[in-house]
Amino acid sequence: MGGPSLADEVRAALAAARALLGELAEEGVERPAPGAAPAPPGPSARPRPAPLPVGGSAQLTLVGREPLWPADPTLEQVRQALGECTRCRLCEGRTQIVFGDGNPRAELMFVGEGPGEQEDLRGIPFCGRAGELLTRMIEGGLGIPRSSVYICNIVKCRPPGNRTPLPDEVAACRPFLDGQIDAVRPRVIVALGKPATSLLLGREVAITRVRGQWSEYRGIPVMPTYHPAFVLRQYTPENRRLVWEDLKAALTRTREQARPQS
Ligand code: URA
Repeated sequence: MGGPSLADEVRAALAAARALLGELAEEGVERPAPGAAPAPPGPSARPRPAPLPVGGSAQLTLVGREPLWPADPTLEQVRQALGECTRCRLCEGRTQIVFGDGNPRAELMFVGEGPGEQEDLRGIPFCGRAGELLTRMIEGGLGIPRSSVYICNIVKCRPPGNRTPLPDEVAACRPFLDGQIDAVRPRVIVALGKPATSLLLGREVAITRVRGQWSEYRGIPVMPTYHPAFVLRQYTPENRRLVWEDLKAALTRTREQARPQS
């Protein structure tokens, strides 16, 4: 008698939860730096990646209600937030975390699947056989130094036996990929293979269908192409030609995007 009914309590709890979710989404979506002034416009100013989608990774970037890093993070801040990560089971088998490699202000970013054996041992993405091919494609094919681009993976720890990362592993690591994208702010992203492409396009894709076709991730043009490990396995002139076409298109778009607007 006199107190609120169970239904009232449930309604109040739901309203509170909805309000909290709204706030979390707002923080995750906009992640405003308290008191931060907007970046000055200018020909060299690079567009900020579009806000994170509400839900999913947006809320994972928060610990409690604190963002993991400021609105315009550096790679060091994202790496620091990753720490000696134990957010998923991949930590159990790794030698070390393989965060990323290359130019922190790169205009072209490559996103692969996950570290393999060599990468796990050396702590550098794409430093094994597939990496040698990727490096040849970047340096010999595109004619730019590997050190001028940024390279990372959708998961930062080696999956056992080089298996494809599982959805919960990809989800646990995704905030850190988003952080890397926020830090580097590339003009163009090349997605290497099906898992990276599926993540960035937000749906399960057949890489043979979508490779070579422009898409977008948070406002950044994405060019999906075959993973170099696939090209090594099926080293046909046709596959090499297709990847070459995709990479050329990515570099051309990077340069177009870079042109100062008059
Ligand atoms: N394959 C990947 O997807 N990433 C690496 O870093 C190495 C091989």
